[in-house]
Amino acid sequence: MTEATALADSAAPSAEVLPAGSPPPVILMRGIRREYRMGGRGHRQAKGEDAVVVRALRGVDFSASAGEFVSVMGPSGSGKSTLMNILGCLDKPSAGAYSLDGIETSQSDSDTFAYIRNRKIGFVFQSFNLLARTTALENVELPLFYRRPGKPEKPYSARERRDRAKAALREVGLEKRMDHYPSQLSGGQQQRVAIARAMVGDPAFILADEPTGNLDSEMSLEIMGLFQQLNGQGKTIIMVTHEPEFAAYTKRIITLRDGMLVSDIAGEGKNAQEELARWKKDNALLNGKTPGGGAEAGEPGTDEPGTDEPGTGEPKEAA
Ligand code: ADP
Ligand code: MG
Repeated sequence: MTEATALADSAAPSAEVLPAGSPPPVILMRGIRREYRMGGRGHRQAKGEDAVVVRALRGVDFSASAGEFVSVMGPSGSGKSTLMNILGCLDKPSAGAYSLDGIETSQSDSDTFAYIRNRKIGFVFQSFNLLARTTALENVELPLFYRRPGKPEKPYSARERRDRAKAALREVGLEKRMDHYPSQLSGGQQQRVAIARAMVGDPAFILADEPTGNLDSEMSLEIMGLFQQLNGQGKTIIMVTHEPEFAAYTKRIITLRDGMLVSDIAGEGKNAQEELARWKKDNALLNGKTPGGGAEAGEPGTDEPGTDEPGTGEPKEAA
C-alpha cells in the first residue's frame, strides 16, 4: 500500500544517532511548524492590515521509540495542545514531516489520515470522555467498531471485540466492574476504563492529555502507577502535563517554549506504587491509624483495617 511509504530522507539524521540495530522510531517529526492565520477572509480588517499569523510551532524536531514514556511540558501557550493535535493526527502541520510507525502522515489523504488516527493512536483525556449510558465493557469495545473492511486488517467479530475489551479491562484491574456505568465508578476507575479503551486496539502509542487533571492525589498516583505498569509491558506513552510532580514518573521530559522544543531530558523515574504506599501510610498516620491496621491513637477498634486494593476492591461511592 502507498500509505506504508518507507521513511523518507528526513529519517536519515535520526537513524544515525540511534544505536545500531534500533527499531525505527514510532514517532519521527522533523521541522514541524503550525501557523494559525487570524483575520483575513471573513474577518473585519482595517484597510491595508495584514492577517495576523500566530506561529504556534516554529520548527519542532522530535522522535520517540517503542517503549518510551515521555511527558510534554511547557507553560500555557507554548504549543503543547498544537503539538498533541498533530501527534494525534487531529491536525496537520503547516510545514514539516511527521512519520508515525513508518507512515508519512503529512502526505496521506483524509481517509488514510483518519485510519492512522483510529488504528495507531489510543487517546486518554483529562475528562475521561466515556459514554454515560454505556457500560465499561461497551465503552472499551467501541474503538474496535471503527475498523472498516477494505483496510489492511479484517474487522473484528462481535466475539473478538468482547474478548479483547475484557482482556484490556482485566489489565487495568477492572475485571469486576465491566458491567458498571461510568456514574457507578470513581474518577480513577473511569480513567482506567478510558485507558483500557485506549489500549484495546493495540495502538502504536497512547497519547494522554493531562490524564490526572481531574483526579485527587491518590487516584492520580494510581493512574501514574498504571501507566508505569503498562510502560513496563512495552506500551509507548506520550503524556502532556503541566505538573512536574507527575512528569517525574515518566522516563523522559520534553519542554516547549514559544513553539520550540527547548529541552529534552531524562525523567526522575520515580516509582508511583512506592509513592502511593508512602502517601497512604502518611494519611493513615494523620488519621490516627498505624499503617498495619492496628489502632494507635484515637478510638481503638472503631476503624476497619486499611484496605489497599487500587481499582480492584470494593466499589467506591459514585462521585
Ligand atoms: P498550550 O497548549 O501549550 O497552552 P497551544 O498549542 O494551545 O498552547 O497554543 C499555542 C499558541 O497558538 C498560543 O499562542 C495560542 O493562542 C495559539 N493558538 C492555538 N490554537 C489556535 C487557533 N485555533 N487559532 C489561533 N491561534 C491558536
Ligand atoms: Mg493546551
